[in-house]
Amino acid sequence: MNVIDSRPYELLIGERWRAGAQGRTFDTLNPATGRVLAQVHEATEADVDAAVLAAHEAYQAHWRKTTPAERGRLLRRLAALFERDREKIAWVETLNVGKPITHSLDSLKAMPSSLEYFAGIIPAVRGETIPVGNHNVLNFTIREPLGVCALIMPWNYPMTLTVNKLGPALAAGNTVILKPSEVTPLSTMVLARLFEEAGFPPGVVNVVNGPGSTVGERLVTHPLVSRVSFTGGTVTGSRIVASTAADVKRVTLELGGKSPLIVFEDAPLEQAVAVAAGDLIKNSGQVCIACTRLLVQESIKREFLDRVQERLDAIRIGSPEDPATEMGPLVSAAQKQRVEKYIRIASEEGARPVQYGSLSGVVETGFFVKPTLLMDSQARMQSAQDEIFGPVQSVISFRDEDEALRIANDSRYGLAAVLFTRDGGRALRMARGIQSGSVAINTGVRTSFDAPFGGYKQSGIGKERGLEAIYENTQLKNVKYDMSV
Ligand code: NDP
Repeated sequence: MNVIDSRPYELLIGERWRAGAQGRTFDTLNPATGRVLAQVHEATEADVDAAVLAAHEAYQAHWRKTTPAERGRLLRRLAALFERDREKIAWVETLNVGKPITHSLDSLKAMPSSLEYFAGIIPAVRGETIPVGNHNVLNFTIREPLGVCALIMPWNYPMTLTVNKLGPALAAGNTVILKPSEVTPLSTMVLARLFEEAGFPPGVVNVVNGPGSTVGERLVTHPLVSRVSFTGGTVTGSRIVASTAADVKRVTLELGGKSPLIVFEDAPLEQAVAVAAGDLIKNSGQVCIACTRLLVQESIKREFLDRVQERLDAIRIGSPEDPATEMGPLVSAAQKQRVEKYIRIASEEGARPVQYGSLSGVVETGFFVKPTLLMDSQARMQSAQDEIFGPVQSVISFRDEDEALRIANDSRYGLAAVLFTRDGGRALRMARGIQSGSVAINTGVRTSFDAPFGGYKQSGIGKERGLEAIYENTQLKNVKYDMSV
């Protein structure tokens, strides 16, 4: 299937596909080979302004007045078109992000349902009447859209993150500007072609590409943008909070993580091994909710690690295009260097890095790193505290429940946690004590479009997905009417 355009991908601004105002393009790569995959037009700040204006005009002129039925119909059409083109989009992600094709296909399976879910939830965008002290006063609330929303995506899951941000924003009656990562813009550009076909009026969805430092910064600080939804690194998230503070914008942040996977001695070991090894290799470890701190009770450490290592030794690392491949490359040369730097840091601070699998079948210029366990890690090591974002896990042992909880919470992040135990009381005590936005017991953390997702501590602000996403995308007005007048 030929899924990549030979001509540079254009920006979508209002009703027009266009080149950036200065005619500049940038390359996007195939991480499995390190070679150029396609060219993309780069937006200027003037292009960002034009996109925001188009979104603002569409919002004011008609979109905010659309009925729930109309918005629902358009989102359902988009869902049907996504299903039609799902395989193509999956191939584009595989070529541009480096995800194994089986994983790309699997991760996009739920996207049409996500759009349908938010089409179906639109009737929940409503207010209520409040019985106040004065019988003559009718007091009620109206839930209203915010206006223009900037949706900024990272490079690890470009399509699922775009769809899960886009659905609730449009369902709630907002118009949007999508800003994919300049590292992985292509799947968003394929999605963008479906909006017109689905019947969305011009300006309701716009797409700008280019560096976060110029295009992203201009977008989040534009006075006509009312809400920013951002997924990415904590440093960038914190910068966005600072740059939007002057205008007191609504900001939702889904940031980094250093999630613990806690294995107690009474754990169902087979399931725990599958989740530990799976988290290490899935999307080459570039997953915000990946459990990158493996906390194992001392009494079972040896048996558990033997089984994890056996699984990792059998991992098939290779071309993402091969359906047999379980792990592909990292997304970029910069990310590969970052991961290698952290493996060196771990070694210097006294951990013992052990690598698994074979790179014999991969293209030498691709950005591959073997799955790596950092044996004998300590909770306070830098490699056990920083988000590395690659196939690397710190292995830390603990003696009892109290120590496990203390280590689990000894992190500036609080995105997710997984624990394996057959003791129900302990599972619930731990679930209550763990400081993170998601906890999974005897299973892995898998986000879904219909359950709220978001972090504690430096892992973010606000929730996305589920009904909570509708609240994030709306504002509540209280109205009082004195009926005696
Ligand atoms: P960033 O957080 O820098 O980028 C995420 C998105 O924000 C991209 O679209 C980027 O644009 C954009 N952006 C960057 N700067 C700004 C800004 N000032 N204003 C508005 N938008 C901006 O991620 P990186 O790619 O630099 O990755 C760095 C680290 O972040 C990773 O190593 C990892 O630890 C973490 N990360 C976490 C993710 C998660 O899901 N939690 C996802 C990705 C990264 P552009 O890329 O085009 O410059």
